[in-house]
Amino acid sequence: MMDVIKNIGCLAQCRPEGGQGEIHPIYNAALVWQDDQIVWVGPEAELPGDFLFEQKLDAGGRMVLPGLIDCHTHLAFGGWRADEFEARLRGTSYLEIAKQGGGIQSTVNETRKATKEQLIQKCSGFLEQMTKLGVTTVECKSGYGLTVEDEIKLLEVYQELNQSQPLTIVPTFLGAHIVPTEYSDNRAEYIRLLTEEMLPRIGQQKLARFCDIFIEDTAYTMDEARQILSAAAECGLAVKVHADQLSDGGGSLLAAQLKAVSADHLEQISGAGIDAMAAADVVGVLLPLATLYTQQKPANARTLIERGLKVAVSTDFNPGSAPSYDLHLAMLLACNGCGMTPAEAVKAATLYAAQAIDMTDCIGSLEPGKRADFAVFDAESVNHWLYHFRPETCRMTVKKGRVIYRRGGI
Ligand SMILES: [Zn+2]
Repeated sequence: MMDVIKNIGCLAQCRPEGGQGEIHPIYNAALVWQDDQIVWVGPEAELPGDFLFEQKLDAGGRMVLPGLIDCHTHLAFGGWRADEFEARLRGTSYLEIAKQGGGIQSTVNETRKATKEQLIQKCSGFLEQMTKLGVTTVECKSGYGLTVEDEIKLLEVYQELNQSQPLTIVPTFLGAHIVPTEYSDNRAEYIRLLTEEMLPRIGQQKLARFCDIFIEDTAYTMDEARQILSAAAECGLAVKVHADQLSDGGGSLLAAQLKAVSADHLEQISGAGIDAMAAADVVGVLLPLATLYTQQKPANARTLIERGLKVAVSTDFNPGSAPSYDLHLAMLLACNGCGMTPAEAVKAATLYAAQAIDMTDCIGSLEPGKRADFAVFDAESVNHWLYHFRPETCRMTVKKGRVIYRRGGI
């Protein structure tokens, strides 16, 4: 027996062909799935009569999108940094805040104090709210532990969340977030810890799929990144990079060389970096909530797209530079700040976000054979959805064929 949802005003399939702006809309559509897999999608008038349905849902003329994918978050952290928010608004620089004991290191201190249970509870609350936005998959980075035990604690939090709640959690190891203060006079020793202790254990226990790194003046150099990421590859982890955020540090070039799945941020990327990433098919992940909060100039999506890059959009949810998990808002900012069209932003939070976490074989588009992950939105089209920005537009979220959230009559 199968399930069907009918009376869909507009369904965006988001198939691979056609580039960033092509989302393959079907009007007056129906979608059929069996267990956790899509078996048919098309105009309702063409729905084969031999399907027998267990459950029939009526979308009421609303819009259906593939389940949204937040492909870049720092979900598990102790404490918050609201006072820093005020200090930054009063003109205190990021560097000054870090000197006064704030910044990433202060979250590291709070995260080390938190128990696994406390972190799981906090993350569960975030994930429940993300479900209500139509999000069905979330990439989650470690990186606020920065000791062997605390990094493994964070990755185990993600492992347990994968069992205890419906959204798919994709874990990334970000031990190379910053150099923790206790190693500021001995960077080499921390890098040894990363490459010889953390990575082999994480690889062996399969606690992370990806290894990420911050390439920045305040974090890691290109040479250090090369060393850490090649160790990661040897331990069976694929590679991601936080690149070219505050300066064109060459992170995008390295990402292309190492065939990373994605390079993220890219506000300051060079033309050579864009071309290298496009040639190597590395997804560029834009994080417009981070530029909103840090009051920097947003990345220019138009240039990236015109030069052949696949662009994804994500929240970068973290307690410092992007304390919001609102992917819908990030997509609006991708339009108004980065210059994307609504259709381009939709592909950026579905199929290309799936490619940024190497999961296009099972999620990111609505096609037979893929997972039945989708959401119903109160809108007549993607243009109207992102233009008339409102809270609670998501009316239903379906994960692996199961309704996990529903609001109002549907
Ligand atoms: Zn980030």
